[in-house]
Amino acid sequence: MKRIEKVAVLGAGTMGARIAAHLANAGVPSFLLDIVPAGAQGAARNQIAAAGLEAARKAKPAAFMEASLARLVTLGNFEDNLGWLQQCDWIVEAVVEDLGIKRDLLKKVDAARRPGTITTTNTSGLPVAKIAEGFSQDFRRCWFGTHFFNPPRYMRLLELIPTPDSDRESMAAIAHFCDLRLGKAIVHAKDTPNFIANRIGTFSALNTFRIMQEMDLSVEEVDALTGSALGAPKSGTFRTIDLVGLDVLGHVVRNGLENIHDERSDLRLPDFFQKMLERKLLGDKTGGGFYKRVKGAPEGQDRLALDWKTLEYRPRQKAKFPSLEMAKNIEDPAERLRTLLAGDPRKDKAAAFYWSSLSELWSYAANRIPEIADTVVEIDRAMKTGFNQEFGPFELWDMAGVPATVERMKKEGRPVGANVEKLLADGRTSWYADAPDAACGRIFFDLASQRSRPVEAPAGIWSVEIAKKAKGVVRKNPGCSLVDLGEGVACLEFHSKMNALGGDIVQLVMQTLKPGGPGDHFDAFVITNDAPNFSVGANIMMLLMAVQEGEWDDVDFAIRAFQGMTQAIKFSPKPVVAAPFGMSLGGGCEIPLHSAVRMPHAELYMGLVEVGVGLLPGGGGCKEMTLRAVDSAASIRPDGRGESVEMMEAMKRTFETVATAKVSTSAFEARGLGFLSEGDTIVMNRERLLTDAKERAMEMVRAGYRPPVMRTDIPAPGENILATLKLGIHLMRQAEFITEYEVKIGHKVAEVLCGGAVSPGTPVSEQYLLDLEREGFKSLAGEKKTQERIQYTLKTGKPLRN
Ligand code: NAD
Repeated sequence: MKRIEKVAVLGAGTMGARIAAHLANAGVPSFLLDIVPAGAQGAARNQIAAAGLEAARKAKPAAFMEASLARLVTLGNFEDNLGWLQQCDWIVEAVVEDLGIKRDLLKKVDAARRPGTITTTNTSGLPVAKIAEGFSQDFRRCWFGTHFFNPPRYMRLLELIPTPDSDRESMAAIAHFCDLRLGKAIVHAKDTPNFIANRIGTFSALNTFRIMQEMDLSVEEVDALTGSALGAPKSGTFRTIDLVGLDVLGHVVRNGLENIHDERSDLRLPDFFQKMLERKLLGDKTGGGFYKRVKGAPEGQDRLALDWKTLEYRPRQKAKFPSLEMAKNIEDPAERLRTLLAGDPRKDKAAAFYWSSLSELWSYAANRIPEIADTVVEIDRAMKTGFNQEFGPFELWDMAGVPATVERMKKEGRPVGANVEKLLADGRTSWYADAPDAACGRIFFDLASQRSRPVEAPAGIWSVEIAKKAKGVVRKNPGCSLVDLGEGVACLEFHSKMNALGGDIVQLVMQTLKPGGPGDHFDAFVITNDAPNFSVGANIMMLLMAVQEGEWDDVDFAIRAFQGMTQAIKFSPKPVVAAPFGMSLGGGCEIPLHSAVRMPHAELYMGLVEVGVGLLPGGGGCKEMTLRAVDSAASIRPDGRGESVEMMEAMKRTFETVATAKVSTSAFEARGLGFLSEGDTIVMNRERLLTDAKERAMEMVRAGYRPPVMRTDIPAPGENILATLKLGIHLMRQAEFITEYEVKIGHKVAEVLCGGAVSPGTPVSEQYLLDLEREGFKSLAGEKKTQERIQYTLKTGKPLRN
């Protein structure tokens, strides 16, 4: 397979610069080229590419996973540096969406590149084949579309668009590279206007505008309906459009209106949208779109919403849909959807909205096969990974019930497409069905062959859910399951709310790792799960209740149990691999800290955040951080004294990390903070995490895993470093960076991390450090201000600085 080691990105605009940044995240060097400003000389000739890179450096959310990765991007321009293309294995074109401009540039590229170099376009919707019409045969063979979504670091979808001339091997090489190295979800689209996600997405947006006008709904009401209730991002339709930019949506819609002629060509951009474009109300980039923030305005009036009828801003109003509020309490999403659709549309606005928008979406999406994609799977996958939706249109249709909804559509005289009739005529009631033996655990109805086919995915794409279907669950309680992954490896899966760590999780982990328990049948363990976040940390609600009732024995027992769990993980004779991702906070950070190795996903927001709620890491987190600091100091100067410069610096960093509750914004940063080690491989594709972690666990078994031995000879940093840390805290207070209470918390953290006020270098054991942690934790838990912090965080999700 062709290897991709060096890439050229043509165009350093919104997309080009961020694609280059994401290549850097994957460790791949790139050339980022753009036009030369008129008359520019010297370094100024790269000014446009430089400005693009600068914008990517400052992008929020961050485009680079670590600031220093920008060094992998080399700046240049189209006039002086096309010769560099000779060094590249892949050239990605991402200049303005203009057929003439793209063709002019690519003609020069054709002449400058090595024959056989893969060259692709990031066009949002221009015909891919037409861009390269009349070019050399070699160019056309190596030419296809790679449609990234903005921002490329975070949006997982990559649509691959072949032309009739495209070489399948080159496409397979890019698919493989983008899957493994860039973490992309690859979807095979066709060379039709706006491809898959934008085709269905713009239909959905235009239809939502239409229904909103017909039903006289406000933007807030539409956002409440189109937000998280059915698994879409919380931001809903209009807040999302503000983030993307109305101009970007307008552009894609116009491209569609000019080039698409289908059964829904009645849908147009409404007048209010056109006027917003004229008035440059483009969303966040121009300071206002459907919503606007007013700096300095009193609370309640600082966030305005647009009245689409008058195009004037007014204070935001909370949408009120009683049926939606009720439905939100229903855990099972399929039941929630069915409940929402069951309301009487004459009385229940939410029910009317959902029925109209979903039934039309289902028909529209089904009618697009085989026009834009060959299967329902491609469409669902594109919509999920391109727009961060939990369910694709066909999955939602299955959840609502295909036969019942089709019957209702017919009864109401709504058009029903031929494709769904084919499904029903075949005696089926859903697009998908569970199939434990299939690689993805599901089969789908293939319209082309009119048969069931397994849902396919590249080898290695896997999930705990699929593993459960195949092998079943070995042991389960409300918070945690032990799942057989095959080949002697089991997964400990958390599934409590937000994956908060409570007694049931502690219990199952302990039982599993204890001889004679359900873990006996396995040689190694992986700790991970399918949720958006690995774990938000210990269940502080339970802690608060126990503290408020003065149940100190219970508190002591809970901390001991938690420590027992992390120590069982660390000293397990069988390797335990933690595969964290997303938020891995507090206890959710302590578990990976104690694992034999970590196999993190690149998007990792990891931190010991306990001081935010007035506590300190009490599950072995302080101990592990001290151990890491002591070991790193000793690795530089093995015979260093207890208070050596290396030890002082390492402890200062550790203290800062814990006492300011630092949270990484990527796995690379987590490594910099000391939560991960150099040997912990970072996985770019979230869907490969489970496979990679399992393989790592098996490798460790094969290599004859040796667990660590409990240490009793840790040279305590001791009193001198403690005094220095306390001085730092004093100065922070003097400068009013921290509150009086934070001085108290800081002192406790410093004491625990230093192993108390002992002589530097005094040998202490891991158990001694755990005992200090536990006492420190309990004493802070007893403080009124800590309890206020916990209460506040439970209520608002934010930290209180009292
Ligand atoms: P952009 O306007 O931010 O950047 C375009 C770049 O093209 C600029 O750096 C500009 O200097 C360069 N350029 C301008 N005139 C040129 C010329 N005559 N010759 C060569 N280069 C020239 O645009 P963008 O949003 O980054 O979009 C780039 C491509 O990606 C387009 O095809 C667009 O449709 C597609 N796309 C955009 C998004 C998005 O959300 N912005 C998403 C997916 C795909």
